Amino acid sequence: EFTPLASDFYGFAADLTEAERASLAEVRAFMEERVAPEIQEHWHRDAFPEHLIPGIAALGVVGPGWAETARFENSAVYRGWVALEMSRVDASISTFVGVQNGLVAGSIGVAGSPEQRAEWLPRLADCSTIGAFGLTEPLSGSDSAQGLLTTARREGDEWVLDGAKRWIGNATHADVVVIWAKDVEDGQVKGFIVPTTSPGFRATRIERKISLRMVQNADIELEGVRVPESLRLQGASSFRDTARVLRLTRAEVAWSAVGVMVGAYEAAVRYTSERVQFGQPIAGHQLVQDLLAKSLGHITASIALCVQVSRMLDQGRQEDAHSALAKAFTTARMREVVAWCREVCGGNGIVTDYDVARFFADAEALYTYEGTAQMNALIVGRAITGRSAFA
Ligand code: FAD
Repeated sequence: EFTPLASDFYGFAADLTEAERASLAEVRAFMEERVAPEIQEHWHRDAFPEHLIPGIAALGVVGPGWAETARFENSAVYRGWVALEMSRVDASISTFVGVQNGLVAGSIGVAGSPEQRAEWLPRLADCSTIGAFGLTEPLSGSDSAQGLLTTARREGDEWVLDGAKRWIGNATHADVVVIWAKDVEDGQVKGFIVPTTSPGFRATRIERKISLRMVQNADIELEGVRVPESLRLQGASSFRDTARVLRLTRAEVAWSAVGVMVGAYEAAVRYTSERVQFGQPIAGHQLVQDLLAKSLGHITASIALCVQVSRMLDQGRQEDAHSALAKAFTTARMREVVAWCREVCGGNGIVTDYDVARFFADAEALYTYEGTAQMNALIVGRAITGRSAFA
Protein backbone atom coordinates (compact mmCIF):
# COMPACT_ATOMS: atom_id res chain seq x y z
CA GLU A 1 0.00 0.00 0.00
CA PHE A 2 1.50 3.32 -1.10
CA THR A 3 1.21 6.17 1.37
CA PRO A 4 1.97 9.64 -0.02
CA LEU A 5 4.91 11.32 1.73
CA ALA A 6 3.98 14.20 4.03
CA SER A 7 6.68 16.17 2.24
CA ASP A 8 4.79 15.73 -1.08
CA PHE A 9 2.80 18.67 0.22
CA TYR A 10 0.84 19.36 -2.99
CA GLY A 11 0.15 15.66 -3.66
CA PHE A 12 2.03 15.23 -6.95
CA ALA A 13 2.21 11.44 -6.48
CA ALA A 14 -1.57 11.24 -6.93
CA ASP A 15 -1.01 11.27 -10.71
CA LEU A 16 0.89 7.97 -10.70
CA THR A 17 -0.80 4.77 -11.87
CA GLU A 18 -1.77 1.95 -9.50
CA ALA A 19 1.11 -0.21 -10.75
CA GLU A 20 3.57 2.65 -10.30
CA ARG A 21 2.36 3.33 -6.78
CA ALA A 22 2.54 -0.35 -5.87
CA SER A 23 6.13 -0.46 -7.13
CA LEU A 24 7.06 2.67 -5.18
CA ALA A 25 5.62 1.11 -2.03
CA GLU A 26 7.98 -1.85 -2.55
CA VAL A 27 10.94 0.45 -3.12
CA ARG A 28 10.15 2.36 0.06
CA ALA A 29 9.74 -0.81 2.13
CA PHE A 30 13.07 -2.17 0.84
CA MET A 31 14.87 1.11 1.54
CA GLU A 32 13.41 1.50 5.04
CA GLU A 33 13.57 -2.12 6.15
CA ARG A 34 16.64 -3.54 4.41
CA VAL A 35 18.86 -0.56 3.59
CA ALA A 36 18.33 1.91 6.45
CA PRO A 37 19.61 -0.41 9.22
CA GLU A 38 22.89 -0.98 7.32
CA ILE A 39 23.79 2.53 6.22
CA GLN A 40 25.62 3.86 9.27
CA GLU A 41 28.06 1.02 9.49
CA HIS A 42 28.80 0.89 5.75
CA TRP A 43 29.09 4.67 5.44
CA HIS A 44 31.70 4.75 8.20
CA ARG A 45 33.65 1.82 6.73
CA ASP A 46 33.49 3.33 3.18
CA ALA A 47 32.03 -0.02 2.16
CA PHE A 48 29.30 -0.76 -0.36
CA PRO A 49 26.71 -3.30 0.93
CA GLU A 50 27.08 -5.65 -2.03
CA HIS A 51 24.79 -8.24 -0.43
CA LEU A 52 21.87 -5.84 -1.06
CA ILE A 53 22.36 -5.88 -4.84
CA PRO A 54 20.04 -8.87 -5.52
CA GLY A 55 17.32 -7.11 -3.51
CA ILE A 56 17.84 -3.93 -5.53
CA ALA A 57 17.59 -5.93 -8.77
CA ALA A 58 14.40 -7.64 -7.56
CA LEU A 59 12.72 -4.21 -7.21
CA GLY A 60 12.92 -3.75 -10.98
CA VAL A 61 14.55 -0.34 -10.60
CA VAL A 62 17.26 -1.07 -13.16
CA GLY A 63 15.94 -0.78 -16.70
CA PRO A 64 12.30 0.30 -16.27
CA GLY A 65 12.80 2.84 -19.07
CA TRP A 66 13.63 0.31 -21.81
CA ALA A 67 11.25 -2.01 -23.67
CA GLU A 68 13.62 -4.95 -23.18
CA THR A 69 13.53 -4.73 -19.38
CA ALA A 70 10.44 -2.75 -18.28
CA ARG A 71 8.20 -4.95 -16.12
CA PHE A 72 5.11 -2.80 -16.63
CA GLU A 73 4.16 0.28 -18.56
CA ASN A 74 5.60 3.25 -16.70
CA SER A 75 6.34 6.93 -17.06
CA ALA A 76 9.49 8.99 -16.62
CA VAL A 77 7.70 10.66 -13.71
CA TYR A 78 7.46 7.27 -11.96
CA ARG A 79 11.13 6.61 -12.62
CA GLY A 80 11.89 9.96 -11.05
CA TRP A 81 9.89 9.05 -7.95
CA VAL A 82 11.96 5.86 -7.69
CA ALA A 83 15.12 7.98 -7.51
CA LEU A 84 13.46 10.22 -4.91
CA GLU A 85 12.33 7.30 -2.74
CA MET A 86 15.79 5.74 -2.81
CA SER A 87 17.69 8.96 -2.09
CA ARG A 88 15.28 9.83 0.70
CA VAL A 89 16.84 6.94 2.63
CA ASP A 90 20.32 6.87 1.15
CA ALA A 91 21.97 8.73 -1.70
CA SER A 92 24.77 6.17 -2.11
CA ILE A 93 22.30 3.41 -2.96
CA SER A 94 20.46 5.73 -5.37
CA THR A 95 23.82 6.65 -6.92
CA PHE A 96 24.63 2.97 -7.41
CA VAL A 97 21.31 2.59 -9.24
CA GLY A 98 21.92 5.86 -11.08
CA VAL A 99 25.13 4.41 -12.49
CA GLN A 100 23.82 0.90 -13.22
CA ASN A 101 20.47 2.03 -14.59
CA GLY A 102 20.92 5.59 -15.80
CA LEU A 103 24.48 5.79 -17.02
CA VAL A 104 25.30 2.22 -18.05
CA ALA A 105 21.95 0.77 -19.18
CA GLY A 106 21.25 4.32 -20.40
CA SER A 107 24.33 4.35 -22.65
CA ILE A 108 23.37 1.00 -24.13
CA GLY A 109 19.68 1.90 -24.36
CA VAL A 110 20.44 5.20 -26.09
CA ALA A 111 23.44 4.23 -28.22
CA GLY A 112 23.52 0.43 -28.41
CA SER A 113 22.50 -1.54 -31.51
CA PRO A 114 19.39 -3.77 -31.17
CA GLU A 115 21.77 -6.73 -30.65
CA GLN A 116 23.75 -4.90 -27.97
CA ARG A 117 20.54 -3.87 -26.22
CA ALA A 118 19.22 -7.44 -26.30
CA GLU A 119 22.48 -8.78 -24.90
CA TRP A 120 23.28 -6.22 -22.20
CA LEU A 121 20.06 -4.61 -20.92
CA PRO A 122 18.63 -7.79 -19.30
CA ARG A 123 21.99 -8.62 -17.65
CA LEU A 124 22.17 -5.12 -16.21
CA ALA A 125 18.52 -5.21 -15.10
CA ASP A 126 18.97 -8.35 -13.02
CA CYS A 127 22.38 -7.11 -11.86
CA SER A 128 24.10 -10.33 -12.96
CA THR A 129 26.39 -7.84 -14.74
CA ILE A 130 27.47 -4.77 -12.79
CA GLY A 131 28.41 -1.74 -14.86
CA ALA A 132 30.31 1.52 -14.51
CA PHE A 133 30.47 4.63 -16.68
CA GLY A 134 33.87 6.08 -17.54
CA LEU A 135 33.76 9.58 -18.91
CA THR A 136 35.66 11.84 -16.46
CA GLU A 137 39.47 11.80 -16.55
CA PRO A 138 42.19 13.07 -14.21
CA LEU A 139 42.83 15.98 -16.59
CA SER A 140 39.35 16.38 -18.06
CA GLY A 141 36.18 16.85 -15.97
CA SER A 142 33.89 19.69 -16.97
CA ASP A 143 35.50 19.94 -20.40
CA SER A 144 35.01 16.27 -21.29
CA ALA A 145 32.99 17.22 -24.40
CA GLN A 146 36.24 18.37 -25.98
CA GLY A 147 39.10 17.58 -23.59
CA LEU A 148 39.16 13.76 -23.37
CA LEU A 149 42.69 12.39 -23.61
CA THR A 150 41.80 8.68 -23.64
CA THR A 151 42.26 7.40 -27.18
CA ALA A 152 40.74 4.60 -29.25
CA ARG A 153 42.71 3.26 -32.20
CA ARG A 154 41.16 0.80 -34.64
CA GLU A 155 43.21 -2.29 -35.57
CA GLY A 156 41.26 -4.59 -37.88
CA ASP A 157 38.25 -5.89 -35.94
CA GLU A 158 39.54 -4.55 -32.65
CA TRP A 159 40.01 -1.24 -30.90
CA VAL A 160 42.96 -0.39 -28.67
CA LEU A 161 42.20 1.94 -25.74
CA ASP A 162 44.84 3.97 -23.90
CA GLY A 163 44.37 6.57 -21.19
CA ALA A 164 43.02 7.16 -17.69
CA LYS A 165 39.68 7.81 -16.01
CA ARG A 166 38.87 9.26 -12.59
CA TRP A 167 35.90 9.14 -10.19
CA ILE A 168 34.32 6.16 -11.88
CA GLY A 169 31.54 4.84 -9.59
CA ASN A 170 31.18 1.06 -9.09
CA ALA A 171 34.38 0.49 -11.12
CA THR A 172 36.20 -1.59 -8.48
CA HIS A 173 33.39 -4.16 -8.34
CA ALA A 174 31.99 -3.83 -11.86
CA ASP A 175 32.12 -6.45 -14.60
CA VAL A 176 32.13 -3.90 -17.42
CA VAL A 177 32.85 -0.20 -17.77
CA VAL A 178 31.46 1.94 -20.58
CA ILE A 179 34.57 3.87 -21.59
CA TRP A 180 34.28 7.05 -23.63
CA ALA A 181 37.38 7.68 -25.75
CA LYS A 182 38.47 9.79 -28.70
CA ASP A 183 38.90 7.98 -32.00
CA VAL A 184 42.40 8.95 -33.21
CA GLU A 185 41.17 8.80 -36.83
CA ASP A 186 38.21 11.19 -36.80
CA GLY A 187 38.77 12.87 -33.41
CA GLN A 188 35.21 12.01 -32.27
CA VAL A 189 34.19 10.55 -28.90
CA LYS A 190 33.02 6.92 -29.07
CA GLY A 191 31.77 4.50 -26.40
CA PHE A 192 33.09 1.01 -25.63
CA ILE A 193 31.79 -1.71 -23.30
CA VAL A 194 35.04 -2.78 -21.65
CA PRO A 195 35.19 -5.94 -19.49
CA THR A 196 37.13 -5.16 -16.32
CA THR A 197 39.05 -8.43 -16.75
CA SER A 198 40.64 -7.09 -19.98
CA PRO A 199 44.46 -7.16 -19.92
CA GLY A 200 45.74 -3.59 -19.40
CA PHE A 201 42.67 -2.49 -17.39
CA ARG A 202 43.31 -1.46 -13.79
CA ALA A 203 40.92 0.19 -11.27
CA THR A 204 42.12 1.65 -7.95
CA ARG A 205 39.70 2.80 -5.27
CA ILE A 206 39.63 6.48 -4.31
CA GLU A 207 39.97 6.62 -0.51
CA ARG A 208 39.01 9.12 2.23
CA LYS A 209 35.94 10.68 0.61
CA ILE A 210 33.70 12.87 2.80
CA SER A 211 30.66 12.45 0.54
CA LEU A 212 28.86 9.33 -0.72
CA ARG A 213 31.34 7.25 1.24
CA MET A 214 29.55 3.99 0.39
CA VAL A 215 29.92 4.51 -3.35
CA GLN A 216 33.11 2.93 -4.62
CA ASN A 217 34.78 5.45 -6.93
CA ALA A 218 37.92 4.56 -8.81
CA ASP A 219 40.86 5.78 -10.81
CA ILE A 220 41.17 3.67 -13.95
CA GLU A 221 44.23 3.06 -16.08
CA LEU A 222 43.88 1.74 -19.62
CA GLU A 223 47.06 0.47 -21.20
CA GLY A 224 46.61 -1.00 -24.64
CA VAL A 225 43.21 -2.48 -23.69
CA ARG A 226 41.81 -4.42 -26.67
CA VAL A 227 38.06 -4.58 -27.28
CA PRO A 228 36.30 -6.07 -30.28
CA GLU A 229 34.27 -3.86 -32.63
CA SER A 230 31.17 -5.73 -31.36
CA LEU A 231 31.66 -3.96 -27.99
CA ARG A 232 31.74 -0.47 -29.50
CA LEU A 233 28.39 1.27 -28.98
CA GLN A 234 27.11 1.29 -32.52
CA GLY A 235 24.95 4.38 -32.13
CA ALA A 236 27.61 6.62 -30.55
CA SER A 237 29.57 8.57 -33.12
CA SER A 238 30.33 11.82 -31.28
CA PHE A 239 29.98 13.52 -27.88
CA ARG A 240 26.44 14.50 -28.91
CA ASP A 241 25.49 10.87 -28.25
CA THR A 242 27.14 10.93 -24.83
CA ALA A 243 25.13 14.09 -24.12
CA ARG A 244 21.91 12.22 -25.03
CA VAL A 245 22.67 9.84 -22.14
CA LEU A 246 23.52 12.68 -19.75
CA ARG A 247 20.30 14.49 -20.60
CA LEU A 248 18.33 11.54 -19.19
CA THR A 249 20.52 11.02 -16.14
CA ARG A 250 20.66 14.70 -15.17
CA ALA A 251 16.88 14.73 -14.82
CA GLU A 252 17.14 11.70 -12.54
CA VAL A 253 19.87 13.35 -10.45
CA ALA A 254 17.47 16.28 -10.04
CA TRP A 255 14.93 13.83 -8.58
CA SER A 256 17.63 12.33 -6.34
CA ALA A 257 18.45 15.80 -5.06
CA VAL A 258 14.80 16.12 -4.03
CA GLY A 259 15.11 12.77 -2.25
CA VAL A 260 18.11 14.05 -0.30
CA MET A 261 16.14 17.16 0.68
CA VAL A 262 13.21 15.01 1.79
CA GLY A 263 15.45 12.69 3.82
CA ALA A 264 17.14 15.60 5.60
CA TYR A 265 13.83 17.40 6.12
CA GLU A 266 12.11 14.36 7.64
CA ALA A 267 15.07 13.85 9.99
CA ALA A 268 14.90 17.53 10.97
CA VAL A 269 11.13 17.45 11.59
CA ARG A 270 11.62 14.37 13.79
CA TYR A 271 14.45 15.96 15.70
CA THR A 272 12.74 19.27 16.29
CA SER A 273 9.65 17.59 17.71
CA GLU A 274 11.78 15.68 20.22
CA ARG A 275 14.40 18.24 21.26
CA VAL A 276 13.23 20.48 24.09
CA GLN A 277 14.71 23.96 24.70
CA PHE A 278 13.18 26.89 26.59
CA GLY A 279 10.56 24.52 27.98
CA GLN A 280 9.11 23.20 24.73
CA PRO A 281 10.04 21.13 21.68
CA ILE A 282 12.10 23.40 19.41
CA ALA A 283 9.50 22.67 16.68
CA GLY A 284 7.32 25.18 18.54
CA HIS A 285 9.79 28.06 18.09
CA GLN A 286 8.96 30.47 15.31
CA LEU A 287 12.40 30.69 13.75
CA VAL A 288 12.73 26.89 13.65
CA GLN A 289 9.37 26.67 11.88
CA ASP A 290 10.62 29.24 9.39
CA LEU A 291 13.56 26.97 8.43
CA LEU A 292 11.22 23.97 8.11
CA ALA A 293 8.74 25.97 6.01
CA LYS A 294 11.50 27.23 3.71
CA SER A 295 12.75 23.66 3.32
CA LEU A 296 9.27 22.42 2.41
CA GLY A 297 8.97 25.26 -0.08
CA HIS A 298 12.18 24.20 -1.83
CA ILE A 299 11.06 20.56 -1.83
CA THR A 300 7.67 21.42 -3.27
CA ALA A 301 9.04 23.69 -6.00
CA SER A 302 11.65 21.08 -6.89
CA ILE A 303 9.12 18.24 -7.15
CA ALA A 304 6.97 20.41 -9.44
CA LEU A 305 9.95 21.15 -11.66
CA CYS A 306 11.04 17.49 -11.75
CA VAL A 307 7.53 16.24 -12.56
CA GLN A 308 7.37 18.61 -15.51
CA VAL A 309 10.86 17.82 -16.86
CA SER A 310 9.97 14.10 -16.74
CA ARG A 311 6.63 14.70 -18.46
CA MET A 312 8.54 16.51 -21.20
CA LEU A 313 10.65 13.39 -21.68
CA ASP A 314 7.52 11.24 -22.01
CA GLN A 315 6.14 13.75 -24.51
CA GLY A 316 9.37 13.68 -26.52
CA ARG A 317 10.16 17.35 -25.98
CA GLN A 318 12.81 17.27 -23.28
CA GLU A 319 16.04 18.93 -24.44
CA ASP A 320 19.49 19.18 -22.85
CA ALA A 321 18.80 22.61 -21.37
CA HIS A 322 15.62 21.36 -19.66
CA SER A 323 17.35 18.62 -17.70
CA ALA A 324 20.42 20.82 -17.11
CA LEU A 325 18.20 23.48 -15.50
CA ALA A 326 16.46 20.85 -13.36
CA LYS A 327 19.80 19.45 -12.18
CA ALA A 328 21.34 22.85 -11.47
CA PHE A 329 18.24 24.22 -9.72
CA THR A 330 17.38 21.27 -7.50
CA THR A 331 20.96 20.57 -6.41
CA ALA A 332 21.37 24.21 -5.40
CA ARG A 333 18.08 24.07 -3.43
CA MET A 334 19.28 20.79 -1.89
CA ARG A 335 22.42 22.43 -0.57
CA GLU A 336 20.32 25.11 1.16
CA VAL A 337 17.85 22.59 2.59
CA VAL A 338 20.47 20.20 4.00
CA ALA A 339 22.21 23.17 5.63
CA TRP A 340 18.96 24.42 7.24
CA CYS A 341 18.08 20.89 8.39
CA ARG A 342 21.55 20.42 9.82
CA GLU A 343 21.21 23.80 11.52
CA VAL A 344 18.00 22.94 13.37
CA CYS A 345 19.65 19.80 14.74
CA GLY A 346 22.26 21.95 16.48
CA GLY A 347 25.44 20.11 17.47
CA ASN A 348 23.72 16.80 16.86
CA GLY A 349 23.46 17.88 13.23
CA ILE A 350 27.14 17.13 12.70
CA VAL A 351 27.10 13.54 13.92
CA THR A 352 25.74 10.89 11.59
CA ASP A 353 23.63 9.25 14.34
CA TYR A 354 20.85 11.72 13.52
CA ASP A 355 20.96 11.05 9.74
CA VAL A 356 20.94 14.69 8.75
CA ALA A 357 24.75 14.94 8.74
CA ARG A 358 25.02 12.13 6.18
CA PHE A 359 22.58 13.87 3.84
CA PHE A 360 24.52 17.10 4.37
CA ALA A 361 27.80 15.41 3.35
CA ASP A 362 26.33 13.34 0.51
CA ALA A 363 24.70 16.40 -1.05
CA GLU A 364 28.11 17.72 -2.08
CA ALA A 365 28.73 14.87 -4.52
CA LEU A 366 25.32 15.24 -6.15
CA TYR A 367 25.99 18.95 -6.52
CA THR A 368 29.17 18.20 -8.49
CA TYR A 369 28.60 15.01 -10.46
CA GLU A 370 26.76 14.81 -13.82
CA GLY A 371 27.86 18.35 -14.61
CA THR A 372 28.66 20.98 -12.00
CA ALA A 373 26.29 23.87 -11.31
CA GLN A 374 28.41 26.03 -13.61
CA MET A 375 28.39 23.53 -16.50
CA ASN A 376 24.63 23.08 -16.32
CA ALA A 377 24.19 26.86 -16.08
CA LEU A 378 26.25 27.22 -19.26
CA ILE A 379 24.04 24.67 -21.05
CA VAL A 380 21.01 26.73 -20.00
CA GLY A 381 22.83 29.98 -20.85
CA ARG A 382 23.51 28.72 -24.36
CA ALA A 383 19.80 27.96 -24.80
CA ILE A 384 18.85 31.42 -23.54
CA THR A 385 21.34 33.45 -25.55
CA GLY A 386 22.33 31.26 -28.47
CA ARG A 387 25.96 31.79 -27.43
CA SER A 388 28.27 29.08 -26.13
CA ALA A 389 30.29 30.39 -23.17
CA PHE A 390 32.10 27.18 -22.18
CA ALA A 391 35.62 28.06 -23.25
P1 FAD B 1 36.57 20.50 -12.83
O1 FAD B 1 36.05 20.29 -14.21
O2 FAD B 1 38.04 20.61 -12.65
O3 FAD B 1 35.86 21.77 -12.24
C1 FAD B 1 36.29 22.42 -11.03
C2 FAD B 1 35.46 23.70 -10.88
O4 FAD B 1 35.69 24.58 -11.99
C3 FAD B 1 33.96 23.41 -10.87
O5 FAD B 1 33.32 24.25 -9.96
C4 FAD B 1 33.55 23.77 -12.30
O6 FAD B 1 32.17 24.13 -12.41
C5 FAD B 1 34.47 24.95 -12.57
N1 FAD B 1 34.63 25.20 -14.00
C6 FAD B 1 35.27 24.44 -14.91
N2 FAD B 1 35.18 24.98 -16.13
C7 FAD B 1 34.44 26.10 -16.01
C8 FAD B 1 33.97 27.11 -16.90
N3 FAD B 1 34.19 27.04 -18.23
N4 FAD B 1 33.23 28.13 -16.40
C9 FAD B 1 32.94 28.19 -15.08
N5 FAD B 1 33.34 27.27 -14.17
C10 FAD B 1 34.08 26.25 -14.64
N6 FAD B 1 32.43 10.70 -13.66
C11 FAD B 1 32.24 9.62 -14.49
O7 FAD B 1 32.60 9.64 -15.67
N7 FAD B 1 31.65 8.49 -14.03
C12 FAD B 1 31.20 8.38 -12.75
O8 FAD B 1 30.66 7.32 -12.36
C13 FAD B 1 31.39 9.49 -11.87
N8 FAD B 1 30.98 9.40 -10.57
C14 FAD B 1 31.29 10.42 -9.71
C15 FAD B 1 31.01 10.27 -8.35
C16 FAD B 1 31.40 11.23 -7.43
C17 FAD B 1 31.17 11.02 -5.98
C18 FAD B 1 32.05 12.41 -7.90
C19 FAD B 1 32.50 13.48 -6.93
C20 FAD B 1 32.29 12.58 -9.24
C21 FAD B 1 31.93 11.59 -10.16
N9 FAD B 1 32.23 11.72 -11.52
C22 FAD B 1 32.03 10.65 -12.36
C23 FAD B 1 32.95 12.89 -12.01
C24 FAD B 1 32.12 14.15 -12.08
O9 FAD B 1 31.23 14.09 -13.15
C25 FAD B 1 33.11 15.33 -12.14
O10 FAD B 1 33.68 15.47 -10.85
C26 FAD B 1 32.46 16.62 -12.58
O11 FAD B 1 32.07 16.54 -13.94
C27 FAD B 1 33.41 17.82 -12.41
O12 FAD B 1 34.64 17.55 -12.97
P2 FAD B 1 35.97 17.80 -12.11
O13 FAD B 1 35.81 17.14 -10.80
O14 FAD B 1 37.12 17.38 -12.97
O15 FAD B 1 36.02 19.35 -11.84
